[in-house]
Amino acid sequence: MYILKDKTQLEKAIAKAKKIRTSVKFIKFGVYSVRGTKGNFYTIECKKVDNQKVVECNCLGGLANLVCWHSCCALSLHIGLARQRQAT
Ligand SMILES: [Zn+2]
Repeated sequence: MYILKDKTQLEKAIAKAKKIRTSVKFIKFGVYSVRGTKGNFYTIECKKVDNQKVVECNCLGGLANLVCWHSCCALSLHIGLARQRQAT
């Protein structure tokens, strides 16, 4: 789990996510499933806690509070959906 503060902390993970090009599955708003390199699926949760954006992934990196590429895949979808929500 990590707190999302600015985009620079995501840069490396985003670059990796672009290389791997996996699929992201929408489960519900704020919860996504991302396919890992070995065909396994990780669950990512994007939520707000005390007005901070918190991202949780159940992979080893996520459990060690690192920014993983799965969470970046989920985040890009989540941010798009959140924008749509605000627009309507
Ligand atoms: Zn992860």
